[in-house]
Parts: sequence; C-alpha cells; structure tokens
Amino acid sequence: MAALTDWQSETYTALRDAHERGQLGHATLLTGPAQIGKRLVADTLAAYILCHQPQSGFACGQCRACQLRLAGTHPDLRVVTFELNKEGTKLRTEIVIDQLRAVSASLALTPQMGGAQIVIVDPADAINHAAANALLKTLEEPMPNRYLWLLAANPGNLPQTIRSRCQKIEMPVPKRESAMAWLKSSGQSAEAAAAALTAARGHPVLARDWLANGGMALRARIDNDLDLLAQSKRLPSEVAEAWMQEDPDLCVRFAAELAVDRAAALPPSNAGRALATWFDEANRARALLRTPVRPNLILTELLVDWCRKMVPLNKERRP
Ligand SMILES: [Zn+2]
Repeated sequence: MAALTDWQSETYTALRDAHERGQLGHATLLTGPAQIGKRLVADTLAAYILCHQPQSGFACGQCRACQLRLAGTHPDLRVVTFELNKEGTKLRTEIVIDQLRAVSASLALTPQMGGAQIVIVDPADAINHAAANALLKTLEEPMPNRYLWLLAANPGNLPQTIRSRCQKIEMPVPKRESAMAWLKSSGQSAEAAAAALTAARGHPVLARDWLANGGMALRARIDNDLDLLAQSKRLPSEVAEAWMQEDPDLCVRFAAELAVDRAAALPPSNAGRALATWFDEANRARALLRTPVRPNLILTELLVDWCRKMVPLNKERRP
C-alpha cells in the first residue's frame, strides 16, 4: 500500500486512535475532494484493524489476515464500487440496490476471521435512490465490530437520513505550506508548484497531476483561447473543436475557474456579474457533458455565450 502523505496521515491517525479508544462508530462518512486520498486512508485503516499483529500503528503485511487482504480474498473486507452493467459492456455510474443488499447480508454474518468486518463504499455519493433505502436499513441495525465506511466527495448527494446516521470525518485540502512541501519533495520547483497549487485551489494531488500530464500547459492555452474569443479573434466553433481534442470536461473546468479569477480581479460591476453567470453556465455544461448530448454542441453553445458576454465588455475597455 502506498505511504500516506502528511495530510492523509493526520486523518488516518485520528481514525485509528478513535478505534483504539473504542470510539469509532458503526458507520463513518469520510468526505473530502476527489483524489485527496480518502480511499487510501480507508484501505490503510482496514488493513490495520484486520491485521493480527500490527506494527508501529500499521498493518504488518505478513500475517494470515494481511496475506488474504493483499490477495484480495479477505472474507471480512468488502469494497463496494461501480460494477459492470447487466450486459457486461461498461461500468455503471451508480451503485445499485443489489450491491447494498449483499452488504447487509454479509454484515449480518459473524466475521469469518473472528475479528472485525469492514465494508468500504466508494464513491458513496453514487448510491442511487433505491440503494440508499437499502443502506438506511443497514445503518439502523448497527452490530458490534461491523464497520461501514462511506467515502464521498459530494456528501450533499446523499440523503440527510443517511448522513445523520454516520460519524462525519472531513479530509480537506491541506494547509498551503504542507501542500507546497509535498510538491517540492516530488521534484517540482517552488515556482511551478506554487502556480499549480493556486490553479488547483490548494489540492496538492491535482496540482502534481497537472504538472506531470500537461494540465498546466492546457490551462494556459484555455486562458489564451478565452482572450482570443473575447477579442473576436477566434470563433467559438473553432475553439470548441480544439477542446474536443482534449478532455472537454477538464477544459470547461479550467475555463470556469479562469472566469472566476477574472471576476475577482474586476470591481463588482456588470462585468463581474456576467462572469459569475457564465461560471454557473460552465458548471451546467460540465453536467451536460456527462449526458448523451453531443459534446461539441455543448462546448460551442457555452463559448458563443462567452463571446456574447465578453466581446461588448472588451470593446468598452478598448474603444
Ligand atoms: Zn498483519
């Protein structure tokens, strides 16, 4: 298992200590932005709790329980995540009721290795309505030594009835110094690390990925595209076509964030309001990109609207 970063270690230690004190609840809702390391923390904690002879606060990696876990066959550890659809052609985008029924059935049994029984649901915010009702029944019948951990980047998508039955642990983005130290230790210059961290709103893992996979260069291009559109130097359809060649969702995400940065640099005026409205539209476009609507139509419409809002402002500024 990968080593924990400082901020992951903080959450891990808090949860492990709660377990040692007998205060780890039956159900825990672990929240925090995508890719911050919720799953790694949950996996590390499961390993520790199931291990027969933990060492220095971590699983030993060698006992029978650890061997079974490493082989993916530990009978008392279950991970519920996206499964293939009925046709076996693609991954579902929801966690469905049969999966949660299997969870309650297994939690009703005595743990086979005589210790704890752990279920990790990742991502719990993808549980659909019917599955949420099945989960609620499980939450209403807590049993000793059975743990249910729900991991969610958007806990607001879970019904309040579920959230209120869980112990809530938040894993926020770390403090800037700690994120900077981690980025620099992975070989980034202070300057590159600082720019990427600002772009990623303080999320160190995103910042690292964007530095490694050309995300920061793409962001600079999106910034330039937005300028060229506002100056009527490029057509929305051309830019949409270019964004189609990249990850359209990431392009719109960058564009939305760049619009917010621009709005923040303006006095609160019509321009600022226009940018804020466009930000909302960009987020709606991102949601639409997950539907069967043709992505180049979504992108073109969004960029036409950018021009509609920005070209007149640009003319005012440079008569
Ligand atoms: Zn072990």
